[in-house]
Amino acid sequence: MTKILKPNKENLTEVKKLILQDEVVAIPTETVYGLGANGLSSVAVNKIFKAKNRPQDNPLILHVSDYEMMERLVYGLTDELKLFLNNFWPGPLTVIMKAKKIIPKEVTCSLSTVAIRMPKNEIATDIISICNVPIAAPSANLSGKPSCTNAKDVLEDMNGKIPLIVDGGDCMIGIESTVLDLTTKPYTILRPGFYTKEDFLKFEDEILIDTALVKDGQIPKSPGQKYKHYAPKAKVLVLVSDDRKKVSFEISKILKENKNLKIGIFKFDQTILDVDSENILSLGSIFNLEQMSKVLFTGLRDFDKKNVDLIIVEGCKEEKLGFSIMNRLKKSASGNIKYLD
Ligand code: AMP
Ligand code: MG
Repeated sequence: MTKILKPNKENLTEVKKLILQDEVVAIPTETVYGLGANGLSSVAVNKIFKAKNRPQDNPLILHVSDYEMMERLVYGLTDELKLFLNNFWPGPLTVIMKAKKIIPKEVTCSLSTVAIRMPKNEIATDIISICNVPIAAPSANLSGKPSCTNAKDVLEDMNGKIPLIVDGGDCMIGIESTVLDLTTKPYTILRPGFYTKEDFLKFEDEILIDTALVKDGQIPKSPGQKYKHYAPKAKVLVLVSDDRKKVSFEISKILKENKNLKIGIFKFDQTILDVDSENILSLGSIFNLEQMSKVLFTGLRDFDKKNVDLIIVEGCKEEKLGFSIMNRLKKSASGNIKYLD
């Protein structure tokens, strides 16, 4: 059985003991919950892959609590680079840099580079500091499913597979970190996330976006991007329009034509009252996409618990944070997206 514990001092001592014994512990971060283990131990890291059923060629992110710890892991951590990173760290940014030999090949999947993040969540940074090792921590869901943003969702996927989940409440952000490749100049976004291209352009003249993120049929530079991901059991349909009323109209039409199906609706507040359904969840306001990112994954999971056949999600404009959210939604829906304009 998997225990869920609050992050008090005594429990964090137990977390430290487990991590240093090469066990896997689920920990909260500001983005999503992570499956944490000693990132310098092959034995521990292999247990992460097993618990998640993660493809063997999808490398892990190493989480650090300070630059001293990071210095042991990568080449090229200059003072100038630290000034850039300080604009985003601690926080939801993961950077790709040249890896040092100390990192087990299980973490990098034998690539010459490694992904590093300094998270902001204090429970996460406390755990990294007290263990005094970088913590490898992919999202704490079974591979392919939506990420977990609370302890209850982690338990659903990990019960019996790991000894302990640290319950730090709901994640503040709800979608994963932005992955930025620093080995190219200009830097390249490999996975969109909370930080957007516009955020980086405040400090860099140019930022590239991996072409696989904007064009179909390209091989992504980030191995994880090529897999089916974020998908609930139910089929997902994304409806996009600048006109909220058009979305309401289309949803009502689908409901009417498919009375035999149990359909979950995930809609912005502006026109939520247009739709007559018991299975409806709010995405918040269209003007507050932070709320959408916070509730998206847990909402998809909640609909699965209600055994709906189809989830209809109202999409947003693919710009700034909306670009990252739509990246996740398109994968959840396996490309099942309808533009109504
Ligand atoms: P997650 O599984 O949610 O922690 O996501 C980690 C992401 O970082 C995945 O998309 C990985 O493919 C990506 N990643 C990790 N290491 C590297 C690397 N060295 N180069 C490119 N992408 C990486
Ligand atoms: Mg993941």
